[in-house]
Amino acid sequence: MSLSPSQHQAIMRGYEITRDQNRILSEERRERIYHEIPEFKDLDAALGTYATRRVRLLLEDSPSSSEEPENPIPRIIQRKKTLLQEAGYPADYLEPIYTCPACKDTGYVLLESGLREKCQCFKKQELSYLYEQSNLQGILHSDRFENVSYGYCQGEDQERLRGAVRISKEFAETFPCGKNLLFYGTVGTGKSFLSGCIANCLLEKGFSVVYFSAVSLFETLARYSFDGNAKETLYNFCKDLYNYDLVIVDDLGTEVLSSFVTSQLFSLLNEREMRRHSTIISTNLNLSELRDRYSDRVFSRVSKSFVLCKLTGPDVRMCQKLNAIP
Ligand SMILES: [Zn+2]
Repeated sequence: MSLSPSQHQAIMRGYEITRDQNRILSEERRERIYHEIPEFKDLDAALGTYATRRVRLLLEDSPSSSEEPENPIPRIIQRKKTLLQEAGYPADYLEPIYTCPACKDTGYVLLESGLREKCQCFKKQELSYLYEQSNLQGILHSDRFENVSYGYCQGEDQERLRGAVRISKEFAETFPCGKNLLFYGTVGTGKSFLSGCIANCLLEKGFSVVYFSAVSLFETLARYSFDGNAKETLYNFCKDLYNYDLVIVDDLGTEVLSSFVTSQLFSLLNEREMRRHSTIISTNLNLSELRDRYSDRVFSRVSKSFVLCKLTGPDVRMCQKLNAIP
């Protein structure tokens, strides 16, 4: 799983806080009832005394016999419920309070096999962490395969789109597949949309995904690299960058080109390849522009280890805007 130890700790700490809060709430309720219904307090005291006596008898190993007095516990419990209801409270008012009854605010549920499994409430928090760290604000929740529209392109353009959708779906379904994807082609043909579809799919399966526009990725790397005080930050940033299950670099080619960018791009591809982690790149450049812009070794890395998906056709966003004009 892809949560970092500190994120896991933060979730577990949250459960601790919830349990503390619920315990305090429970104690306050009990105090209130003791105050309002003095008999209730007496019954609790009687239960305590009886339980102590039972334990003592058991420890003394007295033979249970017919002279053992009737067990008063069920009667006392029933009386307590009645008292609560007569005072206008629900019968379970003083039962332990759980925000998530399924896991009793522990984050884990015990299976019949004896193994522990993450509770739904844990998985929900995990998902929101994964989304938060994924930097995916630029990618929409509506980027989903079921929302693919083929209506804006025809002929060869549509065939290419269908092929790219098929490859993207297979990528998401077989992940972690160790494959890399390059979406290239003209503006508005669905490259970022397909990256978004894959990202949403994988995040929901619990994989760690991070998204960068090329501009922000190389700017961030440059800022940390050229700041003498940011060595540790740079180290941690790169460690994460190389270790995410999936890294998406959108709009490669829109950054300001320098030898720094080229060498960082090569390191990114190389380090992730060595770890067999997937990378998706989208670009408006065609293959020869890619080769001319970056070094040969970058281009040969991309052409050898990336599945190339070419997308062509009209600019869908422009078409949608034009269609929206009444
Ligand atoms: Zn739960």
